Amino acid sequence: MSFRATVLTLYPEMFPGPLGISLAGKALAEEKWRLETVQIRDFAEGRHRMVDDTPAGGGAGMVMKPDVVARAIDHAADERPRLLMSPRGKPLTQKRVRALAEGPGAIILCGRFEGVDERVIEARDLEEVSIGDYILSGGETAAFVLLDAVVRLLPGVMGNEQSGETESFETGLLEHPHYTRPQQWEGRSIPDVLTSGNHGAIDKWRRAEAERITRERRPDLWKAYPETGKAK
Ligand code: SAH
Repeated sequence: MSFRATVLTLYPEMFPGPLGISLAGKALAEEKWRLETVQIRDFAEGRHRMVDDTPAGGGAGMVMKPDVVARAIDHAADERPRLLMSPRGKPLTQKRVRALAEGPGAIILCGRFEGVDERVIEARDLEEVSIGDYILSGGETAAFVLLDAVVRLLPGVMGNEQSGETESFETGLLEHPHYTRPQQWEGRSIPDVLTSGNHGAIDKWRRAEAERITRERRPDLWKAYPETGKAK
């Protein structure tokens, strides 16, 4: 049984979009994962099929209606986690991505307008997930980010399985720098150690660089790094 994503959206035509090319697209074609979209508007009622209404208490924008959203969720719901893409959510981490990739899939609700009625978040026990501290115009692009991160971890999707292991966030460190040919470029050369053939020295250099970059750029990660105490 492959990972199955169901995306609830007002814009199903946006999918698969970027998930239809390269690694994710190839894996999709090979049925290593599945992607379904649900048009939320199909669950709206009345001649105008309204999916949103004005905010209680006044103010700008519109709010997605709880009854419509709930019917769309209930149509898709099974044992998979139910996620709501939301700037108020828990920031997405590689750890959460990995846990999702190990599960059966996800039901992903994409907000639009000012967001969704709070009651449906509670009643359907939605897990709010944020992709960062900025505001997008809709949850669809956030869903692309989440699914891209998940799909590349699925079995058989990434060509070189090993390349996942030293990647940023997997070890608790940002990754070391990369170089490729030519050896000389605009007066800059590849660090000698990398062309020395000495694998012990290469590993040591990469580790030291990963630590340096993490310390300089992400003091928060460096502080949380389990090896920090030992490394000093
Ligand atoms: N009024 C809301 C923002 C609504 S943006 C607020 O201030 O919190 C419209 C939709 O875009 C949201 O419902 C959500 O689904 C999506 N979205 C916007 N920014 C996001 C982010 N950083 N992470 C995940 N989803 C986001």
